[in-house]
Amino acid sequence: MKGIKLAGLNGNGRTIVKVGNVKVGQDFTIIAGPCSVESEEQLLETARAVKEAGADMLRGGAFKPRTSPYAFQGLGLRGLKILEKAREETGLPIVTEVIDTRDVSWVCEYADVLQIGARNMQNFSLLKEVGKANKPILLKRGMHSTIEEWLNCAEYILNDGNPDVILCERGIRTFETYTRNTLDLSAVPAAKELTHLPVITDPTHGTGRLSLIPPMSLASVACGADGIIVEVHRNPPEALSDKDQALTPPQFADMTRKVRQLKKCMGGVK
Ligand code: PEP
Ligand code: MN
Repeated sequence: MKGIKLAGLNGNGRTIVKVGNVKVGQDFTIIAGPCSVESEEQLLETARAVKEAGADMLRGGAFKPRTSPYAFQGLGLRGLKILEKAREETGLPIVTEVIDTRDVSWVCEYADVLQIGARNMQNFSLLKEVGKANKPILLKRGMHSTIEEWLNCAEYILNDGNPDVILCERGIRTFETYTRNTLDLSAVPAAKELTHLPVITDPTHGTGRLSLIPPMSLASVACGADGIIVEVHRNPPEALSDKDQALTPPQFADMTRKVRQLKKCMGGVK
């Protein structure tokens, strides 16, 4: 891949992205929480549950890039304040999406990690703006993007001075309709051999099917991912976005136990 400065084959070793006490790229990182922040009770209850189950970070969208303009768009600033409260209570760092260049600097006052969603992967103005931010970036792969296009977007962020990029494979569109997307697990070892950045997966958006999230999370461990990001809701049928793919807290706890167990077993496997 011509011109990719972030190529990992330069002998510099791998990047570890530090978020509070969490070291992404060193320890297997589990990020969990609802698709959207809906209310203080909803978020705090979910935050307590995922913390109890062993999550390392809390996710929750305050700005939602929705396919329909009439769908729930997120609580904005109110959502960020709720996320801040959840961090105060649980100690979990916050991962939240930013969708507009005008919001980057003030969202940084609330977030620990800024997520760039699949639909914005090639929003070059946004990439340049988060490249100037002093927070780590979780860069999702665009649903129609090649690995090379995805890595070039990471390059935009690095090139503007932000070295802390976490790549996230979240599924791509294929001709398959049973699943919402096709989680391209081969992209994980590929991105790891082409770059020095940590790579995680999103089995929630990658499959869109509850029953497939635990097996694809385990498969993510097996293919060398540095972590997973999954959606958890205290009562999925009530969720204002992505209700069909949210795990309940007990389902998340059970899956997390298995994921940690597999990771431990794989300790010595190279
Ligand atoms: C999300 O994380 O809720 C989301 C919208 O993800 P993606 O950008 O991968 O669709
Ligand atoms: Mn979602």
